[in-house]
Amino acid sequence: MDTTTIDDVQIRHAEPFRAFLQRRGRRYDKKSRNRRGDAIKRLWVLPSRLYKYAEELGLPSVDAIIEQNTLFPCLSRFLGDADQGALIRHHLFDPVDMISQIVGLTASLAPTLNWAPGICLDCQSEDMRTYGHTIWRRDFLLPEVRWCGRHNAPIFHLCDACLRRFATGTHFDVPLSRCPCGQPLALRAKTIHRQEREVALGWQRLLDSAFAPYIGSREMAALINNRAAELRLIDDKQISWVRCLDFFGSQRLRGFSNSIGFRLAGKPLQNALLGKKCPRHPIHAILLLVALYGSWHAVEELLLDRSACLEELDDEMFAEEDL
Ligand SMILES: [Zn+2]
Ligand SMILES: [Zn+2]
Repeated sequence: MDTTTIDDVQIRHAEPFRAFLQRRGRRYDKKSRNRRGDAIKRLWVLPSRLYKYAEELGLPSVDAIIEQNTLFPCLSRFLGDADQGALIRHHLFDPVDMISQIVGLTASLAPTLNWAPGICLDCQSEDMRTYGHTIWRRDFLLPEVRWCGRHNAPIFHLCDACLRRFATGTHFDVPLSRCPCGQPLALRAKTIHRQEREVALGWQRLLDSAFAPYIGSREMAALINNRAAELRLIDDKQISWVRCLDFFGSQRLRGFSNSIGFRLAGKPLQNALLGKKCPRHPIHAILLLVALYGSWHAVEELLLDRSACLEELDDEMFAEEDL
């Protein structure tokens, strides 16, 4: 679904806002390209100054851009009110200091960026049929996402040299079925773990702002806490490390969790299981939910059952974690 028309370049549903600027700037806005150069180099994953762009470019709805062209619909579900407010301010106005840390996107595998453009070849074919051209997709901007849940297909990415060009500000308008240098695309992960597909399903579902819009970090924290109690990973507000070791060990999660920089140990896990704070990083949080409930499908059923998510958490238990 197209959201906006500017000249004859339309912003597409799920196209990162920066990718749209790039597409438009290259073809129609050569004069202002230099002026906007700095902005284009900023993270695709956390665009800022949308309000200014909307005004300059005559975009009718900043809300629609945030919902359809940023990661906000998913990121916001794992943030407390204050952090969510900071993310909205960052998207609408000037960049907010430490925004990557605030939204948990620091556990990056890439040295210079906490994002990298990924490609699902099936999404690409679908976009060709729908639009007559391909688009970059917000779904695959996080390097920790290595599977397309919609198509049950692996994610590809660019070679190191072309990725470095992205990191230094030379971006490519649209993805192709080969790397821009002409080499074949590389698989983002050589090993796809069992839970990876489940996590991808969850990530793509939560990016849809129409899906269970009442779900925020408090509800996510409650879901994690309830299940941890059912599994007796916690008992009387104490964590049982022995049972945790046993439970997470039996799930064979270590390979996957290590590969996305999520340690299933220590204070972050303790806080999550006790219902104090769910992990900020969306992929870490989704992995924890999938691990506890066994599948994304089981988590999704609970998220759709509003009453299951609204079981009261002790207010004193739930506290926004300091950075
Ligand atoms: Zn796909
Ligand atoms: Zn290349």
